[in-house]
Amino acid sequence: MEQLCHYIGGEFLPSTDWIDVYEPATGSVYCRVARGTMSEVEAAVEAATNAFPAWSERAAAERAAVLARIADALESRLDEFARAESQDQGKPVSLARSLDIPRSIANLRFFAAAAMHAWSESHTAPAMLNYTLRQPIGVVGCISPWNLPLYLLTWKIAPALAFGNTVVAKPSELTPLTATKFAELCAECGLPAGVLNIVHGYGSEAGSAIVEHRSIRAISFTGSTATGQYIARTAGPMFKKLSLELGGKNPTIVFADADLDDALPQIVRAGFLNQGEICLCGSRILVERSIFDRFLDSFCERVAALKVGDPLDDDTDVGALVSQAHYHKVLTAIENARADGGRIVVGGSAARVPGRCANGWFVEPTVIVGLDATCSANQEEIFGPVVTILPFDSDDEAITLANSVRYGLAASIWTQNLRRAHTVAARLACGVVWINCWMVRDLRTPFGGTKDSGIGREGGWEAYRFFTEPKNVCIKL
Ligand code: NAD
Repeated sequence: MEQLCHYIGGEFLPSTDWIDVYEPATGSVYCRVARGTMSEVEAAVEAATNAFPAWSERAAAERAAVLARIADALESRLDEFARAESQDQGKPVSLARSLDIPRSIANLRFFAAAAMHAWSESHTAPAMLNYTLRQPIGVVGCISPWNLPLYLLTWKIAPALAFGNTVVAKPSELTPLTATKFAELCAECGLPAGVLNIVHGYGSEAGSAIVEHRSIRAISFTGSTATGQYIARTAGPMFKKLSLELGGKNPTIVFADADLDDALPQIVRAGFLNQGEICLCGSRILVERSIFDRFLDSFCERVAALKVGDPLDDDTDVGALVSQAHYHKVLTAIENARADGGRIVVGGSAARVPGRCANGWFVEPTVIVGLDATCSANQEEIFGPVVTILPFDSDDEAITLANSVRYGLAASIWTQNLRRAHTVAARLACGVVWINCWMVRDLRTPFGGTKDSGIGREGGWEAYRFFTEPKNVCIKL
C-alpha cells in the first residue's frame, strides 16, 4: 500500500506510526499517511530556520522563477493531480480538473508575479523621510482543510514563499495525497531544501505542535471555527500573526426582480458544488415571497436532476462526502431539520451508487423548507449537499435574516435593481458579496470573513501584508 511521507529538509521521511487514508467513494483504505508529532515539527522548523537566510535574501525574481516552474510542472501533470484529488477527497474529477488544480496553478503564478511587484510606502515631511521596509517574517505555519486540499494549501504556501518566508505546512490528515505529490514537484523544480516542509498528521498532534511552536511567528489557517478558536486562544498570547479563515453559513438572497433564467443554474451551483463542502456555499437561500413558489419549483427540478455518482466518472455532478464521520454528521443534520419541522422537498437520505462505490459516503442533494430562521439547520454550517429556503417580504427583512447567524463569510444577491444591489451589499455583515454571480474569484481582492468566520484577509496585497513584517525607518534630512 502506498505510504505518504513527511517532506522535511528536502527529504521524504517515513514514520513509525501511520494513519489510514480512505477513498470516500468506496469507503476503503487506499493508502497510509505519516503521523507526525512535535518531533517532526521540531525537525521541520529547524530545516525551515536554516533555509530562511538564503531564501529570503534571494532576488524576488529568482523566487518568482522557482514558483513559476512549479506552476508549469503542475500544469503539465494536471490530469494526474486532478485524479488524485478526486480519489482522495471524493469530489468529481471534472471539478478537480476545472477548479482545484487550475486554481492551484493560478495561485502559484499569481504570487510569483506579485513577488516582483512588491512595494512599500514612504512618508515625507519637511526635513524628514520615513520609508517602510516590508521584510519576510521567517518561518510561518500553514494549516489547511480537506475540502479544497491543494487549492487552499497553495493559496497559503505561494504568497508565503513568494515574499521570502520559509514554511512548515500541515495538510488535512483526511486528504494528504496532493500535498505529498506537490512536495515531489517542488523538489524536482529546484525549490531549495527546507524552504517548504510538510508535516503530516492529526490536527491535535502535528497541527497543535505548529500552533504552539515559539519559532513559528505567523499562522495562516483555514478550517473550522472551533479549531480557529483554539488557535486564537493558544497563539494569541504568544503574539503570533494570525490569519484565520473559518466556517460560513452564507445567504443567497433572491429578489423578485432577479433574472431567474440566469440565476437558477448559478444558485444550484452555489448550493451543491463540491457536495456543498465549500466554505462559500450558499446554503441558506432567502427568496422574496412573491416568487417563492415559482423559485422553489424550478430550483428543485434542477436539484433533482443533479447526478450523484462515482467521482471518477466525467458526468458526475455530486461525489462522495469526505469521511464516514462527516457523512453521518450531514445525515444527522437532515434528521434534526426534519424533527424541527422542516419539509424535505428533494433528497433527504443517503444516496446509493452501485458497483465499486456501493460502500461510499454519498448523500442526496437535499432541499428543506418550512424551518424557522433560528433552528440549527439555518444557523449552523452543515457543509454538505443541503440547502434550506426561507421567504422574506422586504429588503430590511432579507438583510436581518442574512445577518442573523454567528458567521459572516460571504453572501450573494440576485436582483436587476442596481441601487438595491449596492444598498443591500453595504448592509450585509460579511467579508465577500457577489451580485448576480457566485464564487467568481479575482486573486487581487481581499478574501476573508467577519464574526465567527475569522479574522484577517488573504489574497493580493492583503497576503503581502500578512506574510511580511513592516518596519519604519525614519531619516532626518
Ligand atoms: P478542521 O478545523 O477540522 O481542520 C482544518 C485543519 O486544521 C486540518 O489540517 C486539521 O488537521 C487541522 N487541525 C485540527 N485541529 C487542530 C488543532 N488543534 N491545532 C492545529 N491544527 C488543527 O476543519 P476541516 O473539517 O478540515 O475543514 C472544514 C471547515 O473549514 C469548515 O468549517 C469550512 O467552512 C472551513 N473552511 C473555511 C474556508 C475559508 O476560506 N473561510 C475555506 C475552506 C474551508
